[in-house]
Amino acid sequence: MIAPATKTEHIASAIKVFKESLVNVYGGNLPVSDFMDTLCRSCGTRLIARTHGKTQNFLNGEGSCPQCGTKAYGVYA
Ligand SMILES: [Zn+2]
Repeated sequence: MIAPATKTEHIASAIKVFKESLVNVYGGNLPVSDFMDTLCRSCGTRLIARTHGKTQNFLNGEGSCPQCGTKAYGVYA
């Protein structure tokens, strides 16, 4: 807890690199929400919104993107 917080731009840079190989990459504990949401890997629709410890799920009942139907793998309860 004595180390300085990781700079947002460093997290953003890491997310950009990770997204080249992984799906559903997001950052956490950031003051801005641009990097914390889970976006559809096909169309970019926001699937999971994370803000100040709260999550909001926009997936359809089958766990897929409500716009294009792409499956979002994971456990979303
Ligand atoms: Zn989609």
